[in-house]
Amino acid sequence: MARRGGRGSKAGLLLGAIADDLTGATDLCNTLVAEGMRTVQVIGVPRAETAVPDADAVVVALKSRTVPPGKAVRESRAALAWLREGGARQIFFKYCSTFDSTPRGNIGPVADALLDDLGADLTIACPAFPTNGRTVYRGHLFVGDVLLENSGMRNHPLTPMRDSNLVAVLGAQTPRPVGLVGHETVRKGAGAIRRAFEGLRQAGTRHAIVDAVADKDLMAIGAACADLPLITGGSGVAMGLPANFRESGLLGEAEEAAALPAASGHAAVIAGSCSTATLGQIEHMAATCPAFFVDAEALAARRRVAVEALAWARPRLADGPVLIYASAAPARVRRIQKKLGAGKAGAMIERCLARIAAGLVDAGTGRLVVAGGETAGAVVGALGVQALRIGAEIDPGVPWTMSVGEPRLHLALKSGNFGAPDFFTRAFEVLP
Ligand code: ADP
Repeated sequence: MARRGGRGSKAGLLLGAIADDLTGATDLCNTLVAEGMRTVQVIGVPRAETAVPDADAVVVALKSRTVPPGKAVRESRAALAWLREGGARQIFFKYCSTFDSTPRGNIGPVADALLDDLGADLTIACPAFPTNGRTVYRGHLFVGDVLLENSGMRNHPLTPMRDSNLVAVLGAQTPRPVGLVGHETVRKGAGAIRRAFEGLRQAGTRHAIVDAVADKDLMAIGAACADLPLITGGSGVAMGLPANFRESGLLGEAEEAAALPAASGHAAVIAGSCSTATLGQIEHMAATCPAFFVDAEALAARRRVAVEALAWARPRLADGPVLIYASAAPARVRRIQKKLGAGKAGAMIERCLARIAAGLVDAGTGRLVVAGGETAGAVVGALGVQALRIGAEIDPGVPWTMSVGEPRLHLALKSGNFGAPDFFTRAFEVLP
């Protein structure tokens, strides 16, 4: 089939998504790319005058999960307005598959505001992600073999989840009626689910929790949602949406969704994560590549470590990937944290690594791997990167991406615990 949703197509933006955090947004992007949608992730609320990138799906990554509900609603509405201006045909509100929220929000208030702005009367709420052990049955969310309320989420520092009944949890966050489409309906397929939506709609329900215990449930739910202006859920339920666009002839076949332009420029890894996985990856790469340790103690003593790191790196960049890392084992991390406080130490190191990243890019680096969620946020901010086109995965959950606009850069942002031991070196090998 000819690709009608491809570059320069008339179909334009199909799915517009708003995610309540950065890694959740990446997770959704991965799902959409795997299902054949060319996807761009935008970091933060885009300025109104910013053009919507050429893509089948655009995911706006907010940081709105635990901010006051008013702020989450404002930012989500601004993102919605921008996505609609860009032509989005359907809107997806993405939150965590453990329904991370508090009785104040922000899932209910944001979903209500998006429904209002879209002039829609019914949406679904489906955090299920069976591959990752998140299933919903009789409206109750399970994490592996236990109910949400008995999982580690019970003691989450910001969003403790102590009730597994999503009808009740969402009901506490919205004045609008919340209903359930049970598994006995879902298993009958898209037609039955659609009829259930109609029944709920007529009864005045505005949010439908939908059961799902397997990927085939998510596919059926996706098909049943083809005509809903707004869908809310985890990235699992997004799996079923690309097929709708494909069926209506707006989206071509999957092959090139993950294709990125060829990479160029020097290669570097910057690591600020102190996770076990990252420490192993550092050890692995340092065995064969030049490596520079950013010493937090030297930084605290006001040595110009970023300048030293760049002076070290510049003459080596032409010979292959270099590694610059601040990551250290727990005892060393504790020592500096004791001296400065954990927050201050972290921020100081993030600033230094971000400065080094900017210097490396100035020196001709075009392929950059960054390890650590907060570290990646600081680096992307310092580089002025506002949007990323999502490419193929290096390891599960970590795709290569390419910046949209300047600087032109291939970036792999790895959250600390992800990736096999050879991740850093293999990342450059898989990049065309
Ligand atoms: P992860 O994804 O593993 O959580 P992050 O980058 O989000 O990684 O968090 C790691 C934090 O640890 C960052 O704030 C980073 O600056 C900080 N850090 C890195 N190296 C050290 C170190 N040697 N001592 C103390 N803190 C460090």
